[in-house]
Amino acid sequence: MLNGNLKLAIQKKGRLTEKSLQLLKNSGLEIEDYSERLIISARNYELDILFLRDDDIPEYVQDGVADIGIVGEDIIFEKKADVEILKKLGFGKCRLSLALPENNSLENINELNGKKIATSFPNILNDFLLKNNIKAKIIEISGSVEIAPSLGVADLICDLVSTGNTLKLNKLKKSFDVFDSQAALIMNKNLIENAEKYNILKDFLFRIESALKAKTSKYLMMNAPKNSLEIIKKIVPSLKSPTIVPLADETMVAVHAVIPSDEFWNIYKKLKEAGASGILLLPIENMIL
Ligand code: AMP
Repeated sequence: MLNGNLKLAIQKKGRLTEKSLQLLKNSGLEIEDYSERLIISARNYELDILFLRDDDIPEYVQDGVADIGIVGEDIIFEKKADVEILKKLGFGKCRLSLALPENNSLENINELNGKKIATSFPNILNDFLLKNNIKAKIIEISGSVEIAPSLGVADLICDLVSTGNTLKLNKLKKSFDVFDSQAALIMNKNLIENAEKYNILKDFLFRIESALKAKTSKYLMMNAPKNSLEIIKKIVPSLKSPTIVPLADETMVAVHAVIPSDEFWNIYKKLKEAGASGILLLPIENMIL
């Protein structure tokens, strides 16, 4: 498809697929039903979406088959892809950690010397061992890493952990953390030389950033006695300054402000104590600053 559109690679089927598509939709892109298609074009934007295995995305972007891609940092670093990371996207968060049999212990990182560690992430693990000056043997396994210690293949594993349930099932416990990962937007390093596509990318990135900002912010509204305004202004972590709207009751005002979503539960009690009532918290669809 040599149509001059920007080509974005995303995971075909997996943990990052839905959230990647949702981010595109939140950025104002209209995307038709993609089921079982390998490539689709956005209806209202110069963008083609390629659905690929996430393991392949860093290399396809590096080689220019796709111009940009959305993939986990774990895969980007493991594949040692020569691509530019444009933006961390705040979803697909996970952690690569070391784990060992429940009845063993590991107090100090130096105790890893001489051990055998099974992993599907040999490059990331190797970087971690080098950084910590540890000489351990890496056993590369492509899946079901958790069973390696019970099969006697390795002393420890290095794998992605979120809830820890899989570890528990396999009688393993988490030890040192090796790498924190989240989904990221990557770019082919030569894209900057293609003025047309680079211009599309700049606009696309602006839309993505606005959508991400909108997701982490909320619109707060409340009524408050005029004489509490100074205290309320101090409580509200507003973007710039809150909007104050007069009400029919001249002793009262409405206060509107954009706040970081996660601040709300820290401030709502203080707002009530200061006399605020009718407190509303609304989602923001998009945010251009
Ligand atoms: P999938 O192949 O569908 O399991 O997706 C794997 C990718 O999702 C990984 O490469 C990570 O970037 C990301 N991810 C997010 N949370 C987790 C998790 N708890 N376990 C494994 N991968 C995760």
